[in-house]
Amino acid sequence: MPVLFVGHGSPLYAIEENEWSRGFRGLADLTPRPSSVLMVSAHWYTDGTFVASNERPPTIHDFYGFPRELNEVQYPAPGDLQLANRVRELTGAKLNDQWGLDHGAWSVLRRMYPNADVPVVQLSINGRLSVAAHLDLAKSLVPLRDENVLIVGSGNVTHNLRDLMMRMQMNDSSVPDWSRNFDERLREILVSRDTKSLVEFWPASEDARRSHPTPDHFLPIVYAYAVTDNQDQLSFPIEGFDRSVSMRAMRWG
Ligand code: ZN
Repeated sequence: MPVLFVGHGSPLYAIEENEWSRGFRGLADLTPRPSSVLMVSAHWYTDGTFVASNERPPTIHDFYGFPRELNEVQYPAPGDLQLANRVRELTGAKLNDQWGLDHGAWSVLRRMYPNADVPVVQLSINGRLSVAAHLDLAKSLVPLRDENVLIVGSGNVTHNLRDLMMRMQMNDSSVPDWSRNFDERLREILVSRDTKSLVEFWPASEDARRSHPTPDHFLPIVYAYAVTDNQDQLSFPIEGFDRSVSMRAMRWG
């Protein structure tokens, strides 16, 4: 099974028709139909590692100040307890039946699988681990690729919310150099499979710290990368920027 990383961008892309939402829709055609999706979303950032075991995961509207229409979106994809147990066995993650699907998951998945008929399990990101420890933990998920599970990381290659808000207020749609530089360097690291540089990439430089004041939207890239190897071809089905946010998506396989 191929592996995806998706830059989910604004929650609005779940309901707006634009180049990004069309991009999300196109991702489903780039993989065989999976039996389930394992989603690693920036928006489930926890103290400890958890895997969602709710068989009817509720749609979580984890944002404020957006139109009512967005708060009314439901994405009723089922969970998959068997997969949750398998992830627990592989990673040592604890089962959690309280979490549902956050917008990092459903805003993309409702475009990929609009009928909500592919079960989804989320794996949380443990905020206490180093990048290297995340890489190791994620490697234990490799066997799932042979079990018809689509592993998806959902974050953004660059993501500075404060900067984005400022640009929106000032009606500034330019892309800053720090975001372009980080995006381009990350692309090079992934293409050359330079694992050492990936592990050391954040928060080593000023560009890295501006691109990710916190690592939540960066780490899903590490998860997706970790389950791939040099047998996988890498492509970038979505590229471009929304102001300072890179919307780059990756497909390995
Ligand atoms: Zn996000």
